[in-house]
Amino acid sequence: MLCTSCGKRPAQYFRRSSGERLCLNCLFASIEERVWRTIREEKMIEPGDKVAIAISGGKDSLVLLDVLGRLKKRLRDVELEAFTINEGHPYSCFYRMSRADFVRELAEKYGVPYFVFTFKEVFGFTALEVAERIWKRGEHVHMCTIDGVLRRRAMNLIGKKRGWTKIATAHNLDDEAQTVMLNVLMGNIKRFAWYAAEDSEEKDLIKRIKPLKKVREEEIAIYAYYRGIPLMELECPYVYDNPRYGLKFLLAELEGDMPNVKYNLASFGERLAELVRVEEGYRRCKYCGAVTARDVCRVCELFEKAGLLKEYLEKARELGYLQPNATTLV
Ligand SMILES: [Zn+2]
Ligand SMILES: [Zn+2]
Repeated sequence: MLCTSCGKRPAQYFRRSSGERLCLNCLFASIEERVWRTIREEKMIEPGDKVAIAISGGKDSLVLLDVLGRLKKRLRDVELEAFTINEGHPYSCFYRMSRADFVRELAEKYGVPYFVFTFKEVFGFTALEVAERIWKRGEHVHMCTIDGVLRRRAMNLIGKKRGWTKIATAHNLDDEAQTVMLNVLMGNIKRFAWYAAEDSEEKDLIKRIKPLKKVREEEIAIYAYYRGIPLMELECPYVYDNPRYGLKFLLAELEGDMPNVKYNLASFGERLAELVRVEEGYRRCKYCGAVTARDVCRVCELFEKAGLLKEYLEKARELGYLQPNATTLV
């Protein structure tokens, strides 16, 4: 059977949602075009932007770097750089850093500078140091939560220093659909507002963009495999009690009868976020002055639980992160 797009090469991939049968060339071209169209239609990247590409080391982030690298010449007057944040637990450090050479090479190929930043230099503590303090005090906070909360803050802080106007993350269609599903199942309508806030240009948050958000994970995996991007997916050891893990299988099952279910969920979430956004007000954290929907931001809450709030705020002041209206703890 021949590719339905070029009609020349044999078809190697069946795209169920559209009924296309594609050769690898046409599949790759269509992924690049989809990313390009998403960027254009949503004005994700515009002239004058300095876009930082977040590299976790997983295949999705490497594919993001590869696709944006290829699109670079079409992005006029745009500066690209790539970065990795090293949270500092032995496992993820080893995993991420084992890829650093590959990332550096890939980035270099497209003329994109690449940097590695650590939690230790931003917060004064590694994720594991924070987690161990929290756990020792009998509190239950998931490692993924600690990583996620601190990583988001670290990106904003580093980005402000480096003059980033956008941070590109590798979230794909499957991630987006899972997030929506998870929030619906947990009855967590406020989370939608907060996702919208992260996407907006609220105060001192750097705008997040997700150029791969309309690309299925499966297509990313094929792209990675055939373009020589390492696929070895060493999952985070804490992933198995993460609720997302089960959702992955549930969505795959639903897809059997509803080939567009992931698109539907993702666009449902986006539209809901626009509706919820209006009602949410923003405040500043009473300790550090960061933008938050609550009294105390989640970063300060974590450091408070770990008994390290004072140390964290001192570090923040020393590095010039404290907002002018932040209170001091003495
Ligand atoms: Zn083709
Ligand atoms: Zn705070």
